[in-house]
Amino acid sequence: MRYSTLKCIIPVPVSVKENGEKLVFSDLKNFYSSSGKTVAATERLSDFFAFTGNKLEKKTLEEECQIRFCEETSFTSEEWKMLITSKNIQILAGGKEGFSYAVEAFIQMAFAALREGPSTAYFDGGEIADKPRFGYRGFMLDPSRHFQDKATVLKAIELLAAFRINTMHWHLADNQSWRMPSSVVPEIVGKGTLTDGAYTREDIKEIVAFAAKNNIKIIPELDMPGHSGKILSARRQFACDPENPGREYCLGNAESKVFIKKLLDEVMELFPDSPVIHVGGDEAETSAWEKCPKCLAAMKEKGFNNIRELENDFMVDITRYVVSKGRTPMMWGTCSGQVYPSDTIMQAWLDIREPLRIAPNKNKVVYSVHTSLYFDYPANQSEPLESWMFELTEKGVYMTDPYILWEKELSDTILGPEACLWTETLPQWRFIPKFLPRLAAYSECAWSRNERKDYYDFARRKEYLEAAGYYEFLRK
Ligand SMILES: [Zn+2]
Repeated sequence: MRYSTLKCIIPVPVSVKENGEKLVFSDLKNFYSSSGKTVAATERLSDFFAFTGNKLEKKTLEEECQIRFCEETSFTSEEWKMLITSKNIQILAGGKEGFSYAVEAFIQMAFAALREGPSTAYFDGGEIADKPRFGYRGFMLDPSRHFQDKATVLKAIELLAAFRINTMHWHLADNQSWRMPSSVVPEIVGKGTLTDGAYTREDIKEIVAFAAKNNIKIIPELDMPGHSGKILSARRQFACDPENPGREYCLGNAESKVFIKKLLDEVMELFPDSPVIHVGGDEAETSAWEKCPKCLAAMKEKGFNNIRELENDFMVDITRYVVSKGRTPMMWGTCSGQVYPSDTIMQAWLDIREPLRIAPNKNKVVYSVHTSLYFDYPANQSEPLESWMFELTEKGVYMTDPYILWEKELSDTILGPEACLWTETLPQWRFIPKFLPRLAAYSECAWSRNERKDYYDFARRKEYLEAAGYYEFLRK
């Protein structure tokens, strides 16, 4: 059975109207652009034509062209529109993002059309109007457990862009490793518990530039005061017990903070264009702090009743440092009732009610609750299951709504969702196979409005595109 090409787009657009016309695929020979914002989009379009053994040329006379790009100044930069008649396709967008998103939709429709064979393939005529539900559509990549090399990261960025995800949060260090260049701790760079490997300065530059071309902002993360085992193994003096440094910085040692700020300076220098810097803040254990004379003395001096208040004070100071450098701090939510300054973005990961608790304090929230958006969790029974994991099917990802039940209460709070792929059990060769299958479902959670979402219609569209060879193009 043939479906209208207008009904083969993932994520599903805001509105689609059919006009009954047909545009023959083999008539598409030339494109025209009057905008300087279409460079990446038209390069991608040409890639697609080359992949399918066809050719598309750029022409300077609009009336000679069947695909026409035109800037629409009343649109936001991510907004786009497509008008398809029997003669041509007109693509309108507000910015380079919108042009790229329209081209990704064009490519999906073209695969759906070509499913019938190139000689008879046609686009169904009509009008598509589209813009995102959430401005923040994130994905977290963790190379700190199993290293994921530059080629894997570049491929991940290309796939994220195909599904209109616009933010990559990069978890660059943890207990197991340190993956970025450093003049402060050069001796641990690239040495990992599970695998070795690190990005060079040039790698990071290349990845940042490729991400920018693909409309993806990067948020680098330096996790603290916990998840710091690797660095403390090399700088034991900043742990509570240098004999047994563990994974937490000593909160009572003023030198710890001086040291961390030097590391943050390096991160900000490596990522000069990242407006948001993630400073971790999750899963710190209190046992070493509770036995440490320095931590206990600091707690008493500041008049705190428990050690979590000292941790909060420590992290607030770190967020103030990030703000003083003109960046926005981001942290994992703690679920321990701690409050951070309202300019700090909180990432809710443990509990669906966390955004509701944070909302009165006016922090913005990124929604990553693990039972819905942790891509390391198995999608089916054949995948490895660790004790901390739940099963997370494609449908589970699809049905996720970052507002949960409280759209009215959280409409000013939620920035958008972020899917996370931790790599404790994920060596590089399994990264893309683990990441790609649920990405399409996630894109609809991040981009599409609830009233347009229908899981069974989504599953039909995805199966149709897979049968048409679209995923071969994505994997190329
Ligand atoms: Zn201590």
